[in-house]
Amino acid sequence: ATMPPMLASMATAGRHGVLVKSAVVLERLADVDLVALDKTGTLTDGSPQLVDVEPTADLDADGVLATAAAAEGSSEHPVGRAVVAAAADRGVEPGAASHFRALPGAGVEARVDGRAVHVGAPRVLEDLTGTGDGAADRRGDVAAARTAARRLEEQGRTVVVVVADGAPVGVLGLLDRPRPEAAATVDDLAALTGRGPLLLTGDNAAAAGALARAVGVDTVRAGLLPQDKADAVAGLTAEGRRVAVVGDGINDGPALAAAHVGIAMGRTGSDLALETADAVLVRDDLAQLPRVLALARRARRVVR
Ligand code: ADP
Ligand code: MG
Repeated sequence: ATMPPMLASMATAGRHGVLVKSAVVLERLADVDLVALDKTGTLTDGSPQLVDVEPTADLDADGVLATAAAAEGSSEHPVGRAVVAAAADRGVEPGAASHFRALPGAGVEARVDGRAVHVGAPRVLEDLTGTGDGAADRRGDVAAARTAARRLEEQGRTVVVVVADGAPVGVLGLLDRPRPEAAATVDDLAALTGRGPLLLTGDNAAAAGALARAVGVDTVRAGLLPQDKADAVAGLTAEGRRVAVVGDGINDGPALAAAHVGIAMGRTGSDLALETADAVLVRDDLAQLPRVLALARRARRVVR
């Protein structure tokens, strides 16, 4: 028996490791003229390494790491998992944590050994100058943390600051490698859509720029909160682009939802992303993305 062409194409996509959830999605994939990629877990392999621990106040490096790892204990973010793994590797025992809360696109909060701890993007330092008891000391710690954060950012690191009871105690630097197939995929997407893919990220501009250069991406929007990523997609849609967004569902759920087609990474993707995305790269292989776009275009030509 011969399958209808759309169904046959969906089956072919499936053999390539791409789950296309409906024939309508296949149609939409054929229209895509711009691809927006999330950074962590999409262009990168999603297992960053902690490479710098810089104390900026009264704790030593192990103390900073113990505090950060305790706060990140329940985090599903790649940065959080990297911090926890680094503490385990170095034999650093995390502190006792409770009251964990994830702050989407910003970091985490928890109580650690009786202190209110925040681990997250350096923009939190803007809010910490303040007044009241110890404000002068705190200003010194904030200045030290800002200097350390800037230096690590210039080295292309993903940077997070560790804050305890309103005062920064240290800065962490992480490195996330590009996926091996990232550079070739970027080229293939540019050839297919006539435009290079765009990088949307919550990470800092220097780290995002270093990764973009390494994989051949020309356009980067950095420092975006989850809603900013969705707004960027909506803006491009308003300009007439048909945007496919590829992400892991961690801090990019709103952007996936705003896309013409939302595509989730299979292995690193959160359960919610796998459920709500229009398509899933089941094998977590970015190289299948241009293949399925090309397949969708061919399928439409056959049908029409
Ligand atoms: P991306 O766009 O690269 O996938 P996210 O939007 O998930 O990045 O996160 C943006 C930034 O927020 C990170 O680079 C980091 O500075 C901070 N961040 C997010 N989650 C955490 C966390 N669990 N711990 C520390 N920092 C975090
Ligand atoms: Mg992400």
